[in-house]
Amino acid sequence: MPSIEPLVKRLKSYLDDDQIDQVVRAFDYAQQAHEGQYRRTGDPYITHPLAVAHILTDMHMDHESLMAAMLHDVIEDTATSKRELASLFSSGVAELVDGVSKIDQIEFESRAEQQAENLRKMMLAMTRDIRVVLVKLADRLHNMRTLHAMPPEKRKRIANETLEIYAPIANRLGMYNMRVEYEDLGFNALYPMRAERIARAVKQARGHRKEILRQLQASIEHCLEQEGIEGRVLGREKHLYSIYTKMKEQRKPFAEIMDVYGFRIIVDRVDSCYRVLGAVHNYYTPIPGRFKDYIAIPKTNGYQALHTTLKAHTGLPLEIQIRTEEMEAMANNGIAAHWLYKADEDEQGSGAPGRAQAWMNRLLEMQQKAGNSMEFIENVKVDLFPDEVYIFTPKGEIKELPNGATPVDFAYAVHTTVGNTCVAAQIDGRLAALSTPLESGQTVKIIRASNARPSPGWLNFVVTGKARSNIRHFLKHQRREDSVQLGERLLEKALAEHDLDINDLPIERVVAELASNQYASLDDLLEDIGLGNRLAPLVARKLAGYPESEQGGATSDGKPLAIRGTEGLLVTYAKCCHPLPGDNIIGHLSAGRGIVVHRDNCKNLLSEMRDNPEKALALHWDSDVDQEFSAALRIELVNKKGVLATLATHLSELGSNIETITMAEKDATLTIIHVTATVRDRVHMARIIKRIRTLPNVVRVSRLTA
Ligand code: MN
Repeated sequence: MPSIEPLVKRLKSYLDDDQIDQVVRAFDYAQQAHEGQYRRTGDPYITHPLAVAHILTDMHMDHESLMAAMLHDVIEDTATSKRELASLFSSGVAELVDGVSKIDQIEFESRAEQQAENLRKMMLAMTRDIRVVLVKLADRLHNMRTLHAMPPEKRKRIANETLEIYAPIANRLGMYNMRVEYEDLGFNALYPMRAERIARAVKQARGHRKEILRQLQASIEHCLEQEGIEGRVLGREKHLYSIYTKMKEQRKPFAEIMDVYGFRIIVDRVDSCYRVLGAVHNYYTPIPGRFKDYIAIPKTNGYQALHTTLKAHTGLPLEIQIRTEEMEAMANNGIAAHWLYKADEDEQGSGAPGRAQAWMNRLLEMQQKAGNSMEFIENVKVDLFPDEVYIFTPKGEIKELPNGATPVDFAYAVHTTVGNTCVAAQIDGRLAALSTPLESGQTVKIIRASNARPSPGWLNFVVTGKARSNIRHFLKHQRREDSVQLGERLLEKALAEHDLDINDLPIERVVAELASNQYASLDDLLEDIGLGNRLAPLVARKLAGYPESEQGGATSDGKPLAIRGTEGLLVTYAKCCHPLPGDNIIGHLSAGRGIVVHRDNCKNLLSEMRDNPEKALALHWDSDVDQEFSAALRIELVNKKGVLATLATHLSELGSNIETITMAEKDATLTIIHVTATVRDRVHMARIIKRIRTLPNVVRVSRLTA
């Protein structure tokens, strides 16, 4: 069995005893949880979390991160839940473990390669705590180190994913050492032949380079000495993968790449960097256009140094990087350097995570000063703060949406038509409401119906401008279409009173009517009538040639207007009396809203008619209404468990769905509820009432009246 003792020994250098005890406790727990599990290498499973913890110890990560490393696979692979971890250890540790597990659930493998950038963003957008990413990076590093145990297919896939996703993330966080190891391990696994060839060539070249390097190093050291500057001079060698990509991308032969000699000069202070620069520029010949001041303007990942290329006395190009010890630590470990060098612990007050966050904030400032905030947003902010969610289409394409986006936003992001006709959504295979906020990594399938249309209610929850403007646009158009059609029917009916037809009205009278009301077209007039802003009988009288008069209400004319139920947005059914086909109905014209249909005995309608009789409109049901309406019922029940469930079952057997249930009254034995449910007409409703009456525990059922 692997021992934790070597780790404990290492932790003593920077953690206190209590923290180390907690790490040991996490190890003991993980060892039990993974009991009997083995890795492909043949080692007991616990060797993996232990190795991940060792990698994080290299970075001097805090005890919570180390505990998360020990426990990072227990949610996935064993029966332990997040809640258990929180009660056994701490909520902080449970959050970290949960974060790592969530990243594991993203299915990188089945997705298209060109989406690597989005996948990287998705991974980071899901992370609220940067330590989660660091644990995940360490996890991946150990898996890469033990990759040889995997079957070839899987090995290639994991290597590819590492090069595409993990190495760039390490780069973005400034973690050079981690990135180099990923790249060389990935390169080896993906292209073993090429890697070996380059490795052999490097080994050969090293032989004759050795002497040149020694001479150059001595000459640089001599130059510093003359200027009286103290500093370390280090020879640099490119790693295999960077040699390979340089050969591939810049089409340079191996020899040319190896002909460049790289050195790093590390000094104590920033102003020494510039003094060194002056010294080497004085001593050698600088190559024009190759000097870069990344101290004044750091790279987006926080990297700082002075870069210059010189011509050595032998004529060889000499690449020099100059930086301070602190910049060196940052360049190698990036964000992790904050854990590694906690010299000024109290400065930020919140330890390493706080300093890492502060580093991110400083990065933000630097980027804004440098004037390329776009690049900042692209590279840093989006990646580290969860402002966006990344959602898969069923085909594996990724859509980037703002936080809080819903399936409707997603549908419009896919296509306007998809948005306009969506009726429901499946999130990760489960049916969900269109208003459900989406989370990164989910797969969303939109369910559509060809005759569906956007609902005004969607405006309450959509967050994208695209969805909002499309819904508004659609509703505006739909409303106009509906109101023009309704206006035409109302006007036709009113004209029939005068034995006139809308198609053979005297044209000059129509023109005069349009002009006097500043309508641009006949449709504008019809729209106004449909909306209830103008009364059809009055317009008809004018068009018939009678002098203008406010006399003559709409109820006085003969044949009532037929209601088909398909009029759209401009005919609505009153919520007070819930009229159904078969009921006697009267319309109420309300300005801007079209016709509201009431039952003829509705109290609300009667009081409206007393005040504005001209707004009433005779209606009847068309002979073939094929729609569903809401019926309102009042039901008295005996208080018994399951009685509502029985009710719902019987309704659905009768082809009706419950829309709302409200509790009206309740005492110890009886409950009175109001139910609205879908029905086709009065007959359908009567059948339903009859059936409900026969149910046990139902005392009384009646139609609700206003
Ligand atoms: Mn793992």
